[in-house]
Amino acid sequence: MARITGKNTKPELKVRRMLRALGIGYRLHASDLPGRPDIVMRKRRAAIEVRGCFWHRHAGCRSAYMPKSRVEFWTAKFTGTVERDHRNEYALADLGWKLLIIWECETGDEAALSARLSSFLGLGVPECART
Ligand SMILES: [Zn+2]
Repeated sequence: MARITGKNTKPELKVRRMLRALGIGYRLHASDLPGRPDIVMRKRRAAIEVRGCFWHRHAGCRSAYMPKSRVEFWTAKFTGTVERDHRNEYALADLGWKLLIIWECETGDEAALSARLSSFLGLGVPECART
């Protein structure tokens, strides 16, 4: 249902590979932080969450469709997930962390993704991404 269709395109792996290409060191799954962010750069107090559009309900996204059966079950489940995400986002911000949320469907365009990572991390916009 929430299958990622491409081959070898696990979105989180793609983001991690890009961070390495940018020369950014990171740690994975910080269990001491709210929501255990996927990717953490402690010195920068910056975290990145790569979210599946279906489970985390990417607003307006084709992948965030509602299953046709057991609608009540799914509605409750999705509501719980989205509320938890929001709570964690606020809790992280309260601790002075900044968080970049990357949706699964946004990882297809590598140039755009790389530019977003650079600007989030204050690395400046790479020459080739300037218009
Ligand atoms: Zn999406």
